[in-house]
Amino acid sequence: MEGNHKDRNHALLSASGASRWMNCNPSARLEDMFPDCSSEYAEEGTLAHEISELKLLKYTTPMSQRAFNSKMKKLKSYKLYKPEMENYTDVYVDNIKELLMSFDKPGTAEIEKKVDFSEYVPEGFGTCDFVTVDNGTLYIRDLKYGKGVPVSAQDNPQLMLYSLGAYLEFSLFNDIENINMGIIQPRLDIVSIFEISADELVKWAENEVKPNAEKAFNGEGDFKIGQCTFCRAKAICRARAEANMSLETEMKLKGNILSNEEIGEILNRARDVVKWVKDIENYCQQAILRGEYVPGWKVVEGRSVRAFSDTEKAMEVLKEKGIAEELMYERKVLTLTQLEGVIGKKDFNEYVGDFIIKPKGKPTLVPESDKRAPYVNDVINASDDFINLDNNGKDD
Ligand code: SF4
Repeated sequence: MEGNHKDRNHALLSASGASRWMNCNPSARLEDMFPDCSSEYAEEGTLAHEISELKLLKYTTPMSQRAFNSKMKKLKSYKLYKPEMENYTDVYVDNIKELLMSFDKPGTAEIEKKVDFSEYVPEGFGTCDFVTVDNGTLYIRDLKYGKGVPVSAQDNPQLMLYSLGAYLEFSLFNDIENINMGIIQPRLDIVSIFEISADELVKWAENEVKPNAEKAFNGEGDFKIGQCTFCRAKAICRARAEANMSLETEMKLKGNILSNEEIGEILNRARDVVKWVKDIENYCQQAILRGEYVPGWKVVEGRSVRAFSDTEKAMEVLKEKGIAEELMYERKVLTLTQLEGVIGKKDFNEYVGDFIIKPKGKPTLVPESDKRAPYVNDVINASDDFINLDNNGKDD
C-alpha cells in the first residue's frame, strides 16, 4: 500500500502508544522486544486513510478527475476494500470540508502531515491526518476507522502530541493561541472535539510528557497496569502477572459466603484477569506453533467445518442434476449497519429512518463509573405496580 500510514508508529515512543508509556514508563523498551504485528483491522484502517487522503487531495489541490479515478481504482482493488468505505470516508472528508468552509479565508490544508515533537519526546514523530491554521487557532483532525472502542479527543495524549508537533512548526510563521483537536470516528458516528490554549499544551508537554518520555526512553520508571490491552508485552509481562496473581492473597475473606461488598471488590480487582488469561493462552499457542515446549500444554486440531473446494463448480453440478436454484441459495437482507454503510447515513435515514426501532439492550454488568444510565428493570417495576394496585384495592 502507498503512503506513509504504515510507518507512522515506528518511533520507540509513538504518539499512539503515549497513554501507555506515559503511565507505564518501562513498557516502551519492553514492547520493543516484540514484533509489531499488523492486524487486519489495522490494514483496513490504513486503506480507509488512503482513500480519505486521496479524496481530500482532490478537494484541496488541483487533480484531474482522470488521475483521481485511476488512483481510486487502485485502492478499490485491495482485498480489504468494502463499498461501505466510500460513505464512511465521505463523513470524515465532509467534516474537514465544513471546517474549511467555516473560515473567512481559505487556509493551508496539510494532509498526512509529518510532525516532529522530539523536543519533548526523544526521537518523537508522528503523522497528523489533517492540520490547518485559521485566525489564531491550530486545527488537528484524526480519522479513527475502528469501531471497537469509542475514542474521545478529551485529554487524548496521541492527539495532544500531534498538536504539539504541529504547533512547534506552525507557530514559527503564525500566531497561535488555541489548539482545536478532533477525532472523527464515522463507523460509531462520533465527532469528538477538544480545545485548549497553546500555553496549556506546552505546559503539559513540559511537566508531564518530558519527564515521562525521558524515563520511558531510558527504560526507567515503574511498571503500572491499566494500559495493558494493546501492549505487545501483555502476555508475558511479569508486572501484569504479579498484579493479577496477587488477587488471591490480597482478599481477606471472612465467613462461608461472600458479601455484596466483597463481590464488588473481587470483580473490580479481577477485571483484567480474564483478558490476561486469554492473552497468555494466545501467546502459549503461538509459542508451541513456533516449536517451543510449554510444560503441560500442546496444540491440537480444533473442530473443522466441511466446505466445497470449488463452490461455483459444485453449484453447477447441482443445477445440472436438476436441483432448483431456490433450494441452493438464500436471499438475505444486509444488516442495518451494512445497509447504512452502503447507502450513506443521510439517504438511509431519509428513506427508512421511520422503520428503525431500537429494542432495549440486554442487562450488562459494568463498573459504576460507566457513563451509561443504570438499567431499568421493567419486571421489578411492573411487579411494584401490581403490589401498589393490590394495596390500593385492599385499602378501598
Ligand atoms: S503489560 Fe501492562 S504493566 Fe506490563 S509493560 Fe505492558 S502496559 Fe506495562
